[in-house]
Amino acid sequence: MRRCESIRVLGGIVAGLRPRRLLVVAIAVIALLPIDISEAGWLPDLFKSSPKHVKPPKRAKSARQSTRPAKLARHRAPPKLHTTRLAALGPVALPPSVLKPSAGKCDPATFRIVLDVGHTAESEGAISARNVAEFAFNLRLARQIEERLKTEGFAETRLLLTEGKARPSLFRRVASANNLRADLLLSIHHDSVPNKMLEDWEFEGRKSHFSDRFSGYSVFVSRENPDFKTSLRFAELVAGEMKAQGFRYAEQYSQAIMGRDQHPLLNKEIGVYSYDELIVLRKTAMPAVLLEAGSIINRDEELKMGSPERRNSIAGGVASAVKEFCDPRWALFGPL
Ligand SMILES: [Zn+2]
Repeated sequence: MRRCESIRVLGGIVAGLRPRRLLVVAIAVIALLPIDISEAGWLPDLFKSSPKHVKPPKRAKSARQSTRPAKLARHRAPPKLHTTRLAALGPVALPPSVLKPSAGKCDPATFRIVLDVGHTAESEGAISARNVAEFAFNLRLARQIEERLKTEGFAETRLLLTEGKARPSLFRRVASANNLRADLLLSIHHDSVPNKMLEDWEFEGRKSHFSDRFSGYSVFVSRENPDFKTSLRFAELVAGEMKAQGFRYAEQYSQAIMGRDQHPLLNKEIGVYSYDELIVLRKTAMPAVLLEAGSIINRDEELKMGSPERRNSIAGGVASAVKEFCDPRWALFGPL
């Protein structure tokens, strides 16, 4: 960042402050001007959130590194004073708006995440190796995530249950999410395999199908979503948390063997794929991510996905991802 750009950024911050705080910030500005911001280590992260002054990063960062805030002005938190440490200045009282000039720090009490329960009671999605419908898995997991987010203070979390046949239900769920003016959409699914890979077995006397070939979670975004970059950022947070829980991602979606179900792998460390055509990801007005939580056609993994412990781990991971999405400083500094 060149010096004149730095001055413009700081000028923008100062213009929004009341006189008493202005004095504090003025001291900080004077002290900082001789410093080349590009050499100040963590400072670029604090300023890169201003889209008018700073170009966005050319490629997405990993989940733990990413600090770009979402466009969440509607739900911006009321300013509170925090004490933080600015370079050599020592502790200085500054409002969060100084740390994040156009910041997307959201207020958990008003931030609305919609948890879209994949499929419907009428069109239940995949059938597990033990003949349980995917819809039942999706609903149980989504409810646990909803409970966890509400416990963490995200009171506006909404569970989105849709009725009807498969394709019309896709447009209906998109319309519902848009009408709810959601800030973020997370669609919850469980994975299977293409029919040609299914093998036969008998479960409780009934002819059934399975495939133990693949397992793991995967996270999808559409590059056609109106806010793809923010979608990708949240996807990387979710996938990063899944990996941190000790889960492996499903690698087969990058392989030719998947045919029509092969998708570009956007983050090979943590398992984020693009799935551009998915209606629920491309037609939603807000950032949207789809989580395939695990395989229910794999006989071992189906048992794990049915356990409260696994649902609890996933719910905890998603809640951490939402918290970090809402306040990128959480990842940088820990709770302030
Ligand atoms: Zn599904």
